[in-house]
Amino acid sequence: IKTIGVLTSGGDAPGMNAAIRAVVRTAISMGIKVKGIMRGYSGLLNEEIMDMSIRSVSEIIQRGGTILYTARCLEFKEMSGVMKGKEMCEKHGIDGLVVIGGDGSFRGAQDLSNVGVPCVGVPGTIDNDIACSEYTIGYDTAMNTAMEMVDKLRDTAHSHERCSVVEVMGRRAGHIALNTGIACGACVILVPEKPFDPQKDLLDRIRYSQSVGKRHFIVVVAEGVGSAGDIAGLIQNTLGIDSRTTVLGHVQRGGSPTLRDRVMATKMGYRAVELLSQNIGNRVVAIQKGELVDFEINEALAMQKTIDERLLNIGHAISI
Ligand code: ADP
Repeated sequence: IKTIGVLTSGGDAPGMNAAIRAVVRTAISMGIKVKGIMRGYSGLLNEEIMDMSIRSVSEIIQRGGTILYTARCLEFKEMSGVMKGKEMCEKHGIDGLVVIGGDGSFRGAQDLSNVGVPCVGVPGTIDNDIACSEYTIGYDTAMNTAMEMVDKLRDTAHSHERCSVVEVMGRRAGHIALNTGIACGACVILVPEKPFDPQKDLLDRIRYSQSVGKRHFIVVVAEGVGSAGDIAGLIQNTLGIDSRTTVLGHVQRGGSPTLRDRVMATKMGYRAVELLSQNIGNRVVAIQKGELVDFEINEALAMQKTIDERLLNIGHAISI
């Protein structure tokens, strides 16, 4: 392999820049040229491609977002788009590609690998919802941001003896909600993986906490569970506790990446280039039992991840 491309695709996540930096510098150290592809697969199809040097990734390790921008590209879901992607790689001399993104982006990487452009996926998403990996780039920063925000809400919930219902990101995965809820002492944590009974899992728990002396309450709800506003309304109307709703939203996608995200991104980016340098494609880099590993994309996409039941139970036991 002489030249590799690197792109970020799908939802952005803090630490993607650290991964880009690792890819660029690892490749150059191995004598491989690097081209940066802007705006995910759409930039590949539109030839938004630029040469990268050691200095093009200066001053980005601490920055959130992605210097390459990110986009969703419907055209790439069609075989014709993938074939055009292959042509563009040939035209620009790109003989391997690092794709930093989520499951959708890995499907594109798989398609492109199957038509002869070896691709390696690097898990980048705040939700930690990539089954083959215990960890995804951006997850730690997002949780820490959510934790800081809930801490601030807690102060005011405490002063006014209110209930604060906070919606955190996670449409299909409750990992951010669970960990933030534990870290912030939420008395109720609701995740999409576990169906909840409003009476038993919400109202009875708050009532019990109240009976043992609690005067303010934090409820952390993952986005995928339903409307945080409705939950606050239910608490207010049924229990008579003054309740407020806060939807944290995209604040969780930004900010300077934590140490953990920077180090993980650096390791994963390095490994991706190591694989491509050996002409190995159609893989996803992952963390399993704390170790850096990689899987065939097909195998990676077929895996399933569950929520940490033990942590849920611990939360249930102590957050009263
Ligand atoms: P994420 O990578 O964060 O899961 P998306 O699901 O939006 O985000 O996927 C990002 C991009 O990956 C899509 O816009 C599309 O270009 C490409 N992609 C998604 N699914 C497929 C697929 N089945 N085949 C080919 N490309 C895909």
